[in-house]
Amino acid sequence: MSAKVRVRYAPSPTGHLHIGGARTAWFNYLLARGNDGKFIVRFEDTDQTRHIESGIGNQLDGLKWLGIDWDESVDVGGDYGPYRQMERIPLYKPYIEQLKQKGVLYSCYCSEKELEEERAAQEARGEMPRYSGKCRNLTAEQEEALRAEGREPVLRFRVPENEVIRFTDQVRGDMEFDTNGIGDFIVVRPDGIPMYNFAVTLDDHLMEISHVIRGEEHLSNTPRQIMIYNALGWEAPKFAHLSLILNTDRKKMSKRDESIVQFIEQYRDLGYLPEAVTNFITLLGWSPGGEEEIFSKQELIEQFSLDRVAKSPAVFDMDKLNWMNNHYFKKAELEDIVNLALPHLQRAGKLPEELDEETRKWAVMLIGLYQEQMRYAAEIVELADLFFKDELEFAGEAKAIIEEEHVPVVLQSFLQHIENNEEFTADGIKGFLKQVQKDTGHKGKALFMPIRVALTGQTHGPDLNVTAYLLGKEKVVQRIKKVLS
Ligand code: GLU
Repeated sequence: MSAKVRVRYAPSPTGHLHIGGARTAWFNYLLARGNDGKFIVRFEDTDQTRHIESGIGNQLDGLKWLGIDWDESVDVGGDYGPYRQMERIPLYKPYIEQLKQKGVLYSCYCSEKELEEERAAQEARGEMPRYSGKCRNLTAEQEEALRAEGREPVLRFRVPENEVIRFTDQVRGDMEFDTNGIGDFIVVRPDGIPMYNFAVTLDDHLMEISHVIRGEEHLSNTPRQIMIYNALGWEAPKFAHLSLILNTDRKKMSKRDESIVQFIEQYRDLGYLPEAVTNFITLLGWSPGGEEEIFSKQELIEQFSLDRVAKSPAVFDMDKLNWMNNHYFKKAELEDIVNLALPHLQRAGKLPEELDEETRKWAVMLIGLYQEQMRYAAEIVELADLFFKDELEFAGEAKAIIEEEHVPVVLQSFLQHIENNEEFTADGIKGFLKQVQKDTGHKGKALFMPIRVALTGQTHGPDLNVTAYLLGKEKVVQRIKKVLS
C-alpha cells in the first residue's frame, strides 16, 4: 500500500461492543498494523438521546480484550483530537459557515409534522419519499416570517441535480449513485449539533483518514459524504464497506437473535479466548485463499488485505466459533484454562471462593480432564456436573447399558479391588480394571461401559481412570453400590 494508512473505528457509544462492531474495528486494525499505519478510535456521540456515558469505556474495554491497541483516542490523545465529536463541535463551525456562504447549506423550517405529511403524500403517489426542497429558495423575508412563528431551522445540504456520484469501493468495486434519488439531507440540527454524515466527513478529513472501512449499512451514506467532500473541495478517502453478517438461518443478524452471542463482553464472561474470537471474526468476510482456517494475530496482520474481503454476506456460525475456540483451548496452557474455568465453578457454587491447596489441585486436574472437550470455559459447570451430584440418573443408552446382564459381575469385581486396596490413584484404578478383566473375562466395551455409566451416568466422557480418581474413593464406592442394589 502506497500512501500512509490512517484508519479509524468510530462507534456511537450507545452500549457494549457488538460482534459486528468488533469485526469492523478488527479489520481496520489489521489494515493499520499490516501497513505501518495508525489505528484511531473516535467516538460519534452527537446523538445524545442514545448516548450513554459508560459506552466509551465499554467499547475500549472490549477492544482491549480482543487484543486491539490504538494509536489515537480519547484516553491516549493524539495530534488530531479531540476524539469525541461533542468536543469537536467548535471545529465544525467554520465549515458550516463556509458552506452556508456558498449556499450549499440552507435553512429549512419544515416541522416534523409537515415532513411527515409530505412523506405520506409521496408514498401515496408511489414515489420514493425524500425531502421536497420546499425551503430551498426562501427569501430573507420568508425566512424572517418563519422565524417569527417560532420555528427553529435545521441546515440542509443542497444536493446537486442530475449528477452521478461515483466511487470505487475497495470491497464492492465501482459504485454509482444518481443524485436525483437523494433528497436534500439535514446536516445540522437546530441546536447546532451536526448530523452523522456531516460530522463524519469533517472528522475523516481533518484526521487525514486514508481508508474508511465500515459496515454495509453505511453504503448509502457514502454518496452524501462524497458530496460534502466535493463541496469543501477536499479529496475523499478510500471507502470499503463490509458486507452484512447473517445468522445461521441466513437472516440478517439482529441484536435480539438468541442463537448468537452478541457482545464481546459476553464472550469474555463465557470464557472464550480472544485469539479465537478474532480468528473467527476475521473469517466473517475475509478469506485467506487457501483451506487453512487457524491464524495467529501476527499471521493475520501480515496476510490481511481488503481485496480478499468478500462482497457477499458472511454467515455467523456459532458452532464454528465453538469449534475454533475449542481448538485454541486444546493448545493452551492448562494454567490459562484453569484461570478461565475455575471462577465459573466457584460462581456456580460448586467450589468455595477460597481454595485450600488440595482442593485447588483437584480443581486443576478436573479442568485438565475437560480441556480437550470444553468449547468455552463456562461449559465446565455443565460438563463436570456429575462430580458434584449426590445421585446420578440413568436414562436412554446409559440405562440400557446398566441393565445388561453381565454388569453386576463386573461392578462387583471392580468394587472388590477398590475395597481390598488402600491406594486409590488413577494408575491404581487402571490396574484394578485389568484385574477385573482377568477375573470376569469381560473386556473392552463390556468392561468399561458399565463402570463408566455407573460412575458418571454417561456413556461418553474423558479418561475413565482419572475420572474415577477425581470422584474419590468414597463416591466411587457409593455409586457402584447404588447400581448393584
Ligand atoms: N458511528 C457510526 C456507526 O457506529 C460510524 C460509521 C462510520 O464508520 O462512518 O455505525
